[in-house]
Amino acid sequence: MIPGSAISSLILPHLEDLSPYQAGKPLEELARELGIADAVKLASNENPLGPSPRALEAIRQNLDTLHRYPDSHAYYLKQDLSRHLGIRPEQLILGNGSDEILELLVRALVPFGGAVVSTDHSFLMYGLLTQAVGGVFHRVPLAGLHLDLEAVAQAVTPDTRLVLLNNPHNPTGTAFRRREWEKFLASLPTTVTVVLDEAYIDFADDPDVPHGLEYLSEDRPLVGLRTFSKAYGLAGLRIGYGYGPSQLLAYLNRLRLPFNVNRLAQVAAQAALSDTDFLARTKKLVRQGRAVLARELSRLGLEVAPSQANFLLVKVGQGQQVYKAMLRHGVIIRAMDEYGFPEHIRVNVGLPEENQKFLRVLKNVLGL
Ligand SMILES: *Cc1c(COP(=O)(O)O)cnc(C)c1O
Repeated sequence: MIPGSAISSLILPHLEDLSPYQAGKPLEELARELGIADAVKLASNENPLGPSPRALEAIRQNLDTLHRYPDSHAYYLKQDLSRHLGIRPEQLILGNGSDEILELLVRALVPFGGAVVSTDHSFLMYGLLTQAVGGVFHRVPLAGLHLDLEAVAQAVTPDTRLVLLNNPHNPTGTAFRRREWEKFLASLPTTVTVVLDEAYIDFADDPDVPHGLEYLSEDRPLVGLRTFSKAYGLAGLRIGYGYGPSQLLAYLNRLRLPFNVNRLAQVAAQAALSDTDFLARTKKLVRQGRAVLARELSRLGLEVAPSQANFLLVKVGQGQQVYKAMLRHGVIIRAMDEYGFPEHIRVNVGLPEENQKFLRVLKNVLGL
């Protein structure tokens, strides 16, 4: 026996100041804590239309096979995805959310003390996953609210193993364009793997925003990450995928747990992929709602970052206070202090009536 107070002496020292990921507040929690049952959640960039109906039907039809292990290699889903994307099945890897693929990449490529270059104000998971393997996380400042790819390239040193970029970028919503991206790719040494997290790429409507798939090559250490959590409405099911050189993905495949993507997630993802109507409705709703929110927020005199994603970063003064006040009125958004934006909130596009409720409550809370 050792005293409970000594447990921490057993833990690897680099885990001492690792803090748990802070997720958006679940609706159930608000109901429990404040007794608000009809709250609106616009905090986690989820799909306001709900899950793809075809995915739901596929789940219903497969419930009675739950006593069977899933296909460890997700053969059918990979076939569908490879056709959909125009790449080979070996150039795909599936994960329990795209987060998991990022974790596999970090574990496969970043040694203790190795460097990961990303940007300031980036997705919290990037820093946490790096810290978990004892890597050193470098945050390159943004230029205003935009990624500065030239500065990212300059931050790469011989110790750098991984560069993590997110386009469109959470939480600013901004996106970099083809020309900067190509220049950036060409300037990198071949010892560095680039991860392009495209969680929000389906919402981008500027044709000059590059899609990583166009740059997929067996000779380039580039891995793109996509998810079924946002545009396909399956965040609760946990499924995402990565595409990249087959040789690199084969190593990730050795590292992953054999049944990382469950049965229902596999069939639901296949069905969601075929649900082109749902995807089209989602994109339309998000792009229209984004325009309405941006216009109305600007009308209120608030600064809004130009967004190619399904959310907006809004400067409101005291982000935490606004977040808490809005919570009491049944609107869950995200305060951005942990992302290094104490004066901002992030709100995702909801249904038209949810957007209106958000605007009404924000106006009220800010006294505008
Ligand atoms: C939502 C999000 C993801 C998706 O994560 P999943 O694990 O696939 O749910 C990935 N990256 C960023 C930046 C995100 O905001």
